[in-house]
Amino acid sequence: MSFKNLVGQNELRSLLFSALTENKLSHSVLLTGPSGSGKKSWGRALSMAVLCSCRVAGEPCMECISCRSFLNGNHPDFFELSPDGRNIKIDQIRSLRQKFYLQGSKKVCMINQAEVMTAEASSSLLKLLEDPPDDLHFILLARQPRLLFDTIVSRCQRYVLKPLDCSDITRLLLDKKQLSEEKASLVARISGGLPGYAFELADDEHFEGRFEEVKTLAYNLATGCDSAQQLLSWARYLSDREDLTIFLELLGMIYRDGMIQNLCVDKSMNWLADIDSVSLEDSVMLINSVIYELNNTNVNRRLLLEKLLVLLQRRFSKCQKSSGFGSSRLEKPIILNPV
Ligand SMILES: [Zn+2]
Repeated sequence: MSFKNLVGQNELRSLLFSALTENKLSHSVLLTGPSGSGKKSWGRALSMAVLCSCRVAGEPCMECISCRSFLNGNHPDFFELSPDGRNIKIDQIRSLRQKFYLQGSKKVCMINQAEVMTAEASSSLLKLLEDPPDDLHFILLARQPRLLFDTIVSRCQRYVLKPLDCSDITRLLLDKKQLSEEKASLVARISGGLPGYAFELADDEHFEGRFEEVKTLAYNLATGCDSAQQLLSWARYLSDREDLTIFLELLGMIYRDGMIQNLCVDKSMNWLADIDSVSLEDSVMLINSVIYELNNTNVNRRLLLEKLLVLLQRRFSKCQKSSGFGSSRLEKPIILNPV
């Protein structure tokens, strides 16, 4: 796993290359970014580069003994620490300390989910960071760096992973997964620029079936063909699903596409052409606010979904009346490629 195999993050790449080539990489590095953004991959590539004895312009050579043992997964001086249960405990940090002082060779310790270290473990690590043994490097990975001790963060050189462009994710999916271009593009758009999340979605065997269901609901709401009773049934059915967030993200994406296509000159291919852009924009905002509530509060999922579906159908029904648009004009939703 070298930097060459990693996609995007040009700013991060350039900062790391400069630090490595100018010998300015700190003994303590903190890599932060959302879940699925690629922290582990970048942390491993950086570890490999630090340990390589023949680095070329920041890149590990891939051929020296160090690189070969790293690629084989048995480098004696690379330590990777992950939570034991819910936390990283003090015993884990203590056991590392013993290994560090054994020999004089360069060593790297990568700590996954560093923010779940207990207070005791954090204090123990802080002592190491304050007076690091020669040639010992720490790479801390954290999704929520605000949970780390301030004193730890202040001792680290900090780098941030940003979401990738949709085109980068699509290319990555086409390279690494056996996907059609259409599915790769769809998954890339939902992934929010997070490669880890994109791979998870690409491997999800229920993805196509779920998207078909979303299209049916999007169509039913836009045409107003479901009765109030049927909407309540949808809400009950969806509220039990573990993939509710993805389901709603797809629903929002369908209406967002319709809104964008409504702004194009040729609307003939837009199955939502008779619904005005303001209503579509409102629907997307409403869906996003529901996703936020679901993920950040203890709201009653079923009641929230009932309200969402009723509001969406009511919003769209106003467009049907004002434009004379009826369900007979809509045969089926056609989901176009991104505009
Ligand atoms: Zn090497």
